[in-house]
Amino acid sequence: MDKNEEIRNEAIKEINNSSDPASLEGIRIKYLGRSGKVTMILRSLAELPLEQKKIMGPKAQALRAELDSIIVEKKKKLLEKKHSALDVTRPGKKIGLGHLHPLSIVEKEIIDIFRSMSFSVIDGGPEVETEHYNFDALNIPENHPAREMHDTFWLSQNLTNNKRQMTNDKEFRKGDISSRQSSVVGGRLLLRTHTSPMQIRYMESHKPPFQIIVPGRVFRYEATDASHEINFNQIECLMVGKDVNLSNFKFIIEEFFSRLFKKSITVRLRPSYFPFVEPGLEYLIQCVKCGGKGCNICKNSGWLEVMGAGMVHPNVLRAGGYDPREYQGFAFGVGPERIAMLKYNIPDIRMFYGGDLRFINQF
Ligand SMILES: [Zn+2]
Repeated sequence: MDKNEEIRNEAIKEINNSSDPASLEGIRIKYLGRSGKVTMILRSLAELPLEQKKIMGPKAQALRAELDSIIVEKKKKLLEKKHSALDVTRPGKKIGLGHLHPLSIVEKEIIDIFRSMSFSVIDGGPEVETEHYNFDALNIPENHPAREMHDTFWLSQNLTNNKRQMTNDKEFRKGDISSRQSSVVGGRLLLRTHTSPMQIRYMESHKPPFQIIVPGRVFRYEATDASHEINFNQIECLMVGKDVNLSNFKFIIEEFFSRLFKKSITVRLRPSYFPFVEPGLEYLIQCVKCGGKGCNICKNSGWLEVMGAGMVHPNVLRAGGYDPREYQGFAFGVGPERIAMLKYNIPDIRMFYGGDLRFINQF
């Protein structure tokens, strides 16, 4: 009797103290296993006289059943705990995280630099643009030779009509086709060839002084090669005020490139022609790879052309609703692809949109 009670207390104490299924199994074997303490009692019953066997037998059986059910219960609890508990010692599972595209990285850097110089970032603008905003208002009238430089995706007249149908269904149903075509405001539709239309759109609804940058996607209808894509990005910059001049431009842009490439950059301004600026200039920086000695990137010239710029043409200011005798400004466009290619030594612009993970994963 006493021995049974002793074993029972001992077993229950051990079961309560066990904290994992493995140690619990050890306890089960110790008491209920083939040569466990309770099993041994049951076996020894055979040697007892019948009278004692009648008393001891059921008690030993009851003890075995009791311990067995306590162990089963405890095991259930331990397993539940194991599933719900956070095991901080387990090694972590690596989760593949997305990351920024090299163009996004560069664009963000460019924007951050201009923002720190008090430029406002103007988002978007329509990618489907009118002939008026893309060309005419920027001093590129029809038959102007500069239109040749902009290989343009024109939208077919059908598409134009469909669009009008969507935006003005009532008029479409009642009117005749020719009058609707002639009433398309701003002329034919196209995919914008540069972000400069945003100069006009912004001037129309804002008063100077201001300084803005406008990142956006542009399109050119041309054969692709290592340095040409049909679809690329520009960041347009426009600063207008009463006494904005080229030296403001020179300072800002020198500061910009020095910060972008994290070193002092030697620059060169070269007269050039763009219809929407007067005077117009090309902006060159000393080759960031060879430092001006000549290499394959700068085609041995030591210089890299990085942007077109100039003072906003009076006609453009007028188209934006300003009096050019009162206001002046400068404008330029910078290409994130070009900058990223220089910064990361990327040899082919088509890699940006190729979707090849071996390329993308390097950033
Ligand atoms: Zn070079």
